[in-house]
Amino acid sequence: MLGMTRREMLAAAGLGAVGLATGGWAGPARAEASAWKDLSRRMRGRLVRPGSPRYAELATPRNLRFAALMPRAVALCADARDVSVAVRWARKTGTPFAIRGGGHNYASASSSDGLIICTRSMASASVDGHRLRAQAGVRNMDLAALLPRGGRGRLLLPGGNCPNVGIVGLTLGGGIGPNAPWAGLTADHLREATMVTAEGDIVTASTRHNADLFWGLRGGAGGNFGIVTDLVYDLVELPVARATTFLLWFDGTDAAADAGVAWQESRRAGGRAISGSWVATSTADGVRGRVRGQALMTEDDARSVLEPLLALQPTSVEIVERTFWETYAWYTAPITDPSFFWDRSLYVERDLPSDAVGDITDVVSRFPRPGSAGGACQVLGWVGGAVNDVSPTATSYVHRGARSIVEVLSGWPGGENSTRWPTRVPGDIRDWVDELWAAVWPHSNGHSYQNFPDPGLQQWAWAYYGKNLDRLTHVKATWDRGDIFTHAQGIPLPGK
Ligand SMILES: Cc1cc2nc3c(=O)[nH]c(=O)nc-3n(C[C@H](O)[C@H](O)[C@H](O)COP(=O)(O)OP(=O)(O)OC[C@H]3O[C@@H](n4cnc5c(N)ncnc54)[C@H](O)[C@@H]3O)c2cc1C
Repeated sequence: MLGMTRREMLAAAGLGAVGLATGGWAGPARAEASAWKDLSRRMRGRLVRPGSPRYAELATPRNLRFAALMPRAVALCADARDVSVAVRWARKTGTPFAIRGGGHNYASASSSDGLIICTRSMASASVDGHRLRAQAGVRNMDLAALLPRGGRGRLLLPGGNCPNVGIVGLTLGGGIGPNAPWAGLTADHLREATMVTAEGDIVTASTRHNADLFWGLRGGAGGNFGIVTDLVYDLVELPVARATTFLLWFDGTDAAADAGVAWQESRRAGGRAISGSWVATSTADGVRGRVRGQALMTEDDARSVLEPLLALQPTSVEIVERTFWETYAWYTAPITDPSFFWDRSLYVERDLPSDAVGDITDVVSRFPRPGSAGGACQVLGWVGGAVNDVSPTATSYVHRGARSIVEVLSGWPGGENSTRWPTRVPGDIRDWVDELWAAVWPHSNGHSYQNFPDPGLQQWAWAYYGKNLDRLTHVKATWDRGDIFTHAQGIPLPGK
């Protein structure tokens, strides 16, 4: 291992991302206790240690594959000053650390065996005219509560549909959701960010101040340059007061595949006004296809756009016109418990040929554990449209020519290796994922969504950042030359 950086050692050992060093903290117990006390005394917020009632909730990541990597403490910061105190303290004591907001990272980038610097308590947000100010701990659910009222019912920040996802993680990696095809990415609406640097200083970034950093923060993904504490966005005006939601089911492998092809046809007909996804899932009763989404049009118009799907005589059909905010609530995912999963993604620039949809659905039908765990493939149409109106180099989110994101989705109930670190994907599921990946790969551009980080991805830096990678490494060198904000798939320094 001589000559390897710590990041390379972590990756080689399959350990994933763990903030600073993983060696653990060698200091004697009494000195360690006194150092934690010192940090706690300096903070306005709370230091949550194992044994405290909130420890499990704050320390456990959304993906239980990485739950065996638990911190010695969570610094529940009250404000930017607390974040700065925590960064300085971690550097002084040599304590490994990671940054956490909503904890929904797919890998272990917000986990550490040392300190988690957590923004969860910094969760206030306000709307003033078209401006939204949000602290780093705000999650999608907070916006869902704020915008319909505070936004006077006509203003929106386009974002994801999972209530618990943190706004910083979402924005820094791009931020896709049901409204992206007409409104763009969450990152496209960011106007200013405040960040605690590696030195513990507090800086702001916008097109006028620290413009290189501002460019890097809009697509460069979380945990790379510093800790963002506050964000300012421009909200967008809703183009409609009412919209139509649709949910159609198709039973059987062939019916699911036909629906995948027909859905692409409906998307072409609906343009930016329609968004949603096709997913083929392995169930105990065989493959089920589902098409779900929203159309910014009347129910009659939506039925006409969805005609290719309706002609297939779905097993069940639910098409309902609602107010925009009812549509928003309908599309919001339910809050689900942490689980074991491995999700992979590939961008495609064109609709999939019908034989590819057939091949994909066939692989789904061969999922090795139907009914007992999750095996699915989703073609997600939350990209394209307004997302592609922006140049791929205007922000660090490079995937501006995409038509869809194809997701290879796998989950399992745990139990196998679940308390060992690093946890492994069960062999039969890994083989199935490889087969599905091989079916999708030839149709993709090889890019992968940086907000769905994939610990198994080869050439991940190119896949996430493409031609923006080189510039990102220079932003990294400007703001974090010591590479203290690092993880297994962190942006490298130039030449690394
Ligand atoms: C169930 C689920 C649903 C999802 N739905 C969507 C969706 O609809 N659309 C979409 O685009 N994505 C979606 N995602 C992906 C999600 O956007 C990313 O995983 C996002 O990075 C999560 O942010 P977080 O704060 O919740 O996670 P965390 O794990 O807390 O953080 C994610 C990354 O950002 C870093 N980070 C956290 N806070 C800060 C900070 N203040 N400053 C700097 N870095 C920070 C972390 O260190 C980590 O690297 C989903 C993920 C899950 C698990």
